[in-house]
Amino acid sequence: MKTNELREKYLEFFESKGHTRVASDVLVPTWDPSVLFTPAGMNQFKDHFLGKVKLDYTRATTCQKCMRTGDIDNVGRTPRHHTFFEMLGNFSFGDYFKREAIHWAWEFLTHKEWLGLPEDTLTVTVYKDDKEAADIWHEEIGLPTSRISYEDEDENFWPASAPSQGPDGVCGPCSEIYYTAPGREELEIWNLVFTQFNRVGDPPDNLRPLPSKNIDTGMGLERTAAALQNVETNFHIDTLMPIVQAAAEVCGVKYKYASEEGRRLRRITDHVRACAFAVHENVYPGPQKEKYVVKRLLRRAVLDGHQLGMREPFLCKLVPAVVDAMEDAYPELKETTKRVSDVIAKEEANFFGTIDGGLSRIEAVFDEMRRDNRLKVDGGVAADLYQTYGVPPELFESLAAEHNLAFDWPGYQHAMAEHGEASGKLTHTVMGAKGPIDSLKQALHKTEFVGYDALECEATVA
Ligand code: ATP
Ligand code: MG
Ligand code: MG
Ligand code: MG
Repeated sequence: MKTNELREKYLEFFESKGHTRVASDVLVPTWDPSVLFTPAGMNQFKDHFLGKVKLDYTRATTCQKCMRTGDIDNVGRTPRHHTFFEMLGNFSFGDYFKREAIHWAWEFLTHKEWLGLPEDTLTVTVYKDDKEAADIWHEEIGLPTSRISYEDEDENFWPASAPSQGPDGVCGPCSEIYYTAPGREELEIWNLVFTQFNRVGDPPDNLRPLPSKNIDTGMGLERTAAALQNVETNFHIDTLMPIVQAAAEVCGVKYKYASEEGRRLRRITDHVRACAFAVHENVYPGPQKEKYVVKRLLRRAVLDGHQLGMREPFLCKLVPAVVDAMEDAYPELKETTKRVSDVIAKEEANFFGTIDGGLSRIEAVFDEMRRDNRLKVDGGVAADLYQTYGVPPELFESLAAEHNLAFDWPGYQHAMAEHGEASGKLTHTVMGAKGPIDSLKQALHKTEFVGYDALECEATVA
């Protein structure tokens, strides 16, 4: 099943269950000061869940453009993470609750006229206290208990790292659905959130029942398409592979999944798609907030190109491939193709001008280390170079490896966390939160970081 067909089927299915089809919200919701980018389908409905907005419908379904910068380091390394991706969702505002959400999810996934996934490829998790959800899965759906596992709040309370300690805002226990193909690791495809609390302030007693019980679900479009198309990574689905191939062609390399080049081409694909959508919405690369994220994504992609031998702007040439792949769902992209390419080309040209300078700065650090007989790159120094000149730590690390030097990742991450707090850059909150960035990251972007030295194709999941 093609990705475009999956998107349409999902929306049609939930329309057939009385949901109103609502358009994707923008990727950069300037109306919401609590986030830089839309992180999930429910974002546009926060006030609906809080009961603050009066509606003429109580069920909605969407395909939402999302961006999770917290996943940036996993892009290309895991088979399943993007920065920009699409999230399918169905929502109930005080209407149906757990039972219907679970039954409809199962029907959509397994019935022949919908996705027709074999039942034995699916497993689920529920929140540790949520016997009600487990009973629905077991007694009503008929899922054997061996395929239902209870998880704690790290996995099954959304968004949170503990029910009372996540960001402020609507939240609840959730049940997640995993797909496992033979010989592959399990893949999380769908999260059903039973949104029933508003979290306000510090524990204890900060979980307040909402005026009504709600449903918020999020299914990854690319992941589910990868399951249906039986490909080893999201990047090989019909809407992403052409961009990967275009990137390979522009960079003059052959694409191979399990290779360093493959990882770089996938990252280029992800980042150029994310930036094309952001620039389309008039978010240009710049020094702060979402603009800074766009700049950082572009730079990382340019560096990957540089490492593949590119010496002049090339990302801009991939914008038409992004538009081709995405125009069915987002025809408006066609109207800005040239503007988007021009903006990207300009930023690329600027950055290409600084890369060689970055390389010489790194070499200077190595010279100093040799003089002092030091064998490990100081993480703080690397963080400084990244913050000041945009010298990516990965470039630093790979060059260090070539010189038989180690790289202090924990020190680097520690220094970056401090930089983030000091510069205020990372103090932006998610989902109306007031907590520190770490808890927010855990809450919304709590992807396990697979490590800079993990080989991309060994990294988790199939
Ligand atoms: P993971 O544990 O794999 O990082 P998650 O638990 O962080 O996923 P949720 O917050 O539950 O994801 O989001 C709902 C759904 O959106 C996920 O089940 C998945 O299908 C999809 N999704 C989440 N993050 C990404 C991403 N970075 N790229 C692609 N799809 C994603
Ligand atoms: Mg998860
Ligand atoms: Mg999840
Ligand atoms: Mg995650």
